[in-house]
Amino acid sequence: MNTELLMARLEAKHPAEREYLQAVHEVLLSVEDIYNQHPEFEKARIIERLVEPDRIFTFKVPWVDDKGDIQVNTGYRVQFNNAIGPYKGGLRFHASVNLSILKFLGFEQTFKNALTTLPMGGAKGGSDFSPKGKSSAEIQRFCHSFMLELWRNIGPDTDVPAGDIGVGAREVAYMYAMYKKLARENTGVFTGKGLAFGGSLIRPEATGFGGLYFVKQMLETAGKGIEGKTIAISGFGNVAWGAATKATEMGAKVVTLSGPDGYIYDADGLNEEKIAYMLELRAANNDEIAPYADKFHVPFFPGRRPWEQKVDIALPCATQNELNLDDAKALIANGVLCVGEISNMGCTPEAIDAFIQAKVLYGPGKAVNAGGVATSGLEMTQNAMHLSWSAEEVDARLHQIMSDIHQQCVRYGKQPDGYINYMKGANVAGFMKVAQAMLDQGFLG
Ligand code: NDP
Repeated sequence: MNTELLMARLEAKHPAEREYLQAVHEVLLSVEDIYNQHPEFEKARIIERLVEPDRIFTFKVPWVDDKGDIQVNTGYRVQFNNAIGPYKGGLRFHASVNLSILKFLGFEQTFKNALTTLPMGGAKGGSDFSPKGKSSAEIQRFCHSFMLELWRNIGPDTDVPAGDIGVGAREVAYMYAMYKKLARENTGVFTGKGLAFGGSLIRPEATGFGGLYFVKQMLETAGKGIEGKTIAISGFGNVAWGAATKATEMGAKVVTLSGPDGYIYDADGLNEEKIAYMLELRAANNDEIAPYADKFHVPFFPGRRPWEQKVDIALPCATQNELNLDDAKALIANGVLCVGEISNMGCTPEAIDAFIQAKVLYGPGKAVNAGGVATSGLEMTQNAMHLSWSAEEVDARLHQIMSDIHQQCVRYGKQPDGYINYMKGANVAGFMKVAQAMLDQGFLG
């Protein structure tokens, strides 16, 4: 494999798709050594096949706002790879959504899902519709219109969407309702459903909980514990909430949260009341974290990011490329021990290089945040069996899956000096599974 030649071809073909090219480049650099030890991969053109999505649906989503005016958004579904199972991946509703972002997310999802050990392929979808500032009735009308197009291309054994940025339990419920009307079947075609209609206990918390299980294991490999450590979290959405809950339960002190408006620094750390307030802020359809500062009398830093604070652990939980080289340098200078990406591709490539060079424990999103989709996989299993597991059972399985992912990263990422390159480990482990499945299935695999 010639990574630079492959990248040059992809760049010529998709010049504007910055995030997609970034995600592919990271994986190619990690897997090129092992790929070149397997001439059968080269012969089967595995890489050329793997970087292309199986198919992409793009569609118009017209809807009527509360004033009676017609609005139009664009909907997408990228079915990336189904070599190891039905397509699986969330839907993102955010003004910034475009094809490059959904292709990067679908590509990442393919490897992440392979790491979970569950039989799920990779996909992602969404729209440039922003739920921010919209009424529930508007969101409902948008979700119905979105599903009117998408429903034909998904199904419990074909493609199973879920939530992501801007898509939580409410949006999933609206879309699921429309799917049922059209398909006339009540099947587990979505995950992240409400508990009353086939959802799984622990699914809302799973991405954050799984992230903390992984971070704890990373620290333990270095002979350290999580108790008493200070943590910077970005975002204040679903994932940030789950991460803050589990980190606090584990005895760590979460000192920052952020929004597009800036970040708060809470020297006392979050507690139950403050974590509950995160949910209140989100429910108010608010995209500002500043009210937290007023309510709990803590400093607010407008327009800044939390990475400038001295902390032991940094957990990006908001969006892609939210931690850059300057942020990484500041964290390293302040003695950060561990960086766990709970958002997808939260760190820029330059930031990752800096962490790895400084031998900071760095966990990539596709490993650290895989607990979300893993628990979605457990929701699919419960739906297929027509039963519900207890929270303890789901949590125990989630814990086990995160341990298995950690083990795979160590197996493929441990360097001769003992440092674990989790990025390499996760990329190689995910790649080997998908590549082998594709190889076994011939050129259509
Ligand atoms: P939410 O919509 O609940 O929260 C997202 C948070 O990130 C919000 O605080 C949001 O602020 C902020 N944000 C989003 N886009 C931007 C942007 N362009 N610039 C600055 N801030 C931004 O989403 P989730 O918590 O579900 O998702 C967070 C991250 O975790 C994403 O990277 C997602 O892909 C990843 N993830 C989520 C999983 C899940 O199970 N939900 C599973 C695995 C990964 P605002 O909305 O105000 O813009």
